[in-house]
Amino acid sequence: MNRTPTPPKLPVTIISGFLGAGKTTLVNQLLQQRAPGSVGVVVNEFGEVGIDGQLIIAEEQALVEINNGCVCCTVRADLVASVKALLARPQTGTAPMQRLIVETSGLADPAPVLQTFLADPDLREAVDLESVVTVVDALHLRRQLDDDIAREQVAFADVILINKLDLITEDELIAIERTIRSLNPTAAIITATRSQIRADALLGMRRFSPPRCSRSSPICSTRALTTTNMTRRFNRAR
Ligand SMILES: [Zn+2]
Repeated sequence: MNRTPTPPKLPVTIISGFLGAGKTTLVNQLLQQRAPGSVGVVVNEFGEVGIDGQLIIAEEQALVEINNGCVCCTVRADLVASVKALLARPQTGTAPMQRLIVETSGLADPAPVLQTFLADPDLREAVDLESVVTVVDALHLRRQLDDDIAREQVAFADVILINKLDLITEDELIAIERTIRSLNPTAAIITATRSQIRADALLGMRRFSPPRCSRSSPICSTRALTTTNMTRRFNRAR
């Protein structure tokens, strides 16, 4: 039985979030709910060694780690090459690869990561950016938002997972949601404790949407769109 056609584009979920927010735990939760090998993972844990000591539990042939720099600053080309390498690998898992998860380092600004994805013509053909999920630490978010990167991670998200819900009160949750909304009025907000969430609640919903543009605009290319989107969201974040 080999009749299922390979989908034309592999959906990609980008998982962002500040140091210690629970990104790796979330990725592992999602992997556990999918057939082994069916989710390819690219992880950039630069700067996070020793923070939570967590490891991604993925099939070896479906995992690429980028540890020699941050994907938003110094190793953007590595991100593109890693995704391409992953797509080209022979698949030995029990299921064909059906999607990709990219876990960025907690220090990564999501904007250049997105731009890297959208600016590469081969990747644009091969993958479809489904959503940017930002995991936030319910207990520490408000203090972490003093950091520009943390603010941008919230501002860029299509989905915000408020994690460690068990550590805060209901009133604190309301205050956190208000803070998040001031930075990002449109993202879907979901909550979890220990990153526990049904994979169906995160994966398979296309939420990433480049802004509309006028067809007559001479600069209306994906690159220009991306930049516009970023500028818009940066402005919103400030
Ligand atoms: Zn960076």
